[in-house]
Amino acid sequence: MALSESELIARYFRSCGVQRRDVVLGVGDDAALLECPPGAQLVATTDTLVAGVHFPPSVPSAAIGHRALAVNLSDLAAMGARPAWALLALTIPSADEHWLGEFAAGFASLARAHDVALIGGDTTRGPLTVTVQLLGHVPHGRALTRAGGRPGDLLYVSGSPGDAGAGLAIEQGRLSAPAEAAPYLRERFRLPTPRVALGERLREHARACIDVSDGLLGDAGKLAAASGVGLEIAFAELPVSRALVQALGPEAARELALTAGDDYELLFAVDPARAAELERALPGAQWNYHQIGVLRAAAGVVVVRDGTVMEFSHSGYQHFA
Ligand code: ADP
Ligand code: MG
Repeated sequence: MALSESELIARYFRSCGVQRRDVVLGVGDDAALLECPPGAQLVATTDTLVAGVHFPPSVPSAAIGHRALAVNLSDLAAMGARPAWALLALTIPSADEHWLGEFAAGFASLARAHDVALIGGDTTRGPLTVTVQLLGHVPHGRALTRAGGRPGDLLYVSGSPGDAGAGLAIEQGRLSAPAEAAPYLRERFRLPTPRVALGERLREHARACIDVSDGLLGDAGKLAAASGVGLEIAFAELPVSRALVQALGPEAARELALTAGDDYELLFAVDPARAAELERALPGAQWNYHQIGVLRAAAGVVVVRDGTVMEFSHSGYQHFA
């Protein structure tokens, strides 16, 4: 690399994201030193994006920087946590300054939006792979988990699932969408919106929560299994975007909403006795979520359309299936 490793780190990553007072030592020493707020629990997550596996080569580096942080922000959102500190392990084939500048800018702008500081990482040469570790915190004992759902709870999802899956298909040339829909769908894949503010607010309202990253149906199954319940999704209630319906028609749009990955929306369960309170505090129209089903005692996930149970052969993307 023409640029030395330490020059590269100093130029692109030393002041990436926000500066936080709780970072005693950030990029530059052997490890970062952090001040955790009193009465809080640390919440930690990590996710890796491998070029050619998690995104096609056509995705610009600014979007890769955004996505690498966004997928981790989404995990903390699902825990009801407030994000604070990120580590970035970056493997790149060469020190392409244009690529790095755009990548760091994409990462930094999302980091600033969520008050996240980049506090360290690692930089190596090899096939393009981006690993972000994200740390945050939650008031002691208040984290949302997948496990708290009970039979009868109402099931909600944020956003319009399926859009990112269609965006990826467009990106890969597997789907051609009308010109008025394609840019929006593609952007939903490239620049997912982690629901951090919603996740934090849901600590007061939800009994269980998961983020939808591998497909709504599969992730709903994980929430149900962790909660020791089953659930029923009403096909007609699935919120699909106008663009997705324009691209696929109403039926296939909802099928994709159930099975496609990369949405980074929140799926959560609420005690029906507290649903009115949820709607008062966080109006669905404003916070962009919809009820799509209910939790039930019988195990398994079923999707009901016109009173009959639909069969799904593919319940979300699985890397090692
Ligand atoms: P060491 O060899 O002690 O691990 P490095 O030379 O790898 O140190 O890293 C020097 C400093 O730069 C460390 O604080 C490390 O956390 C940080 N760092 C390295 N790569 C990155 C990166 N891609 N993003 C942010 N910080 C980085
Ligand atoms: Mg190192």
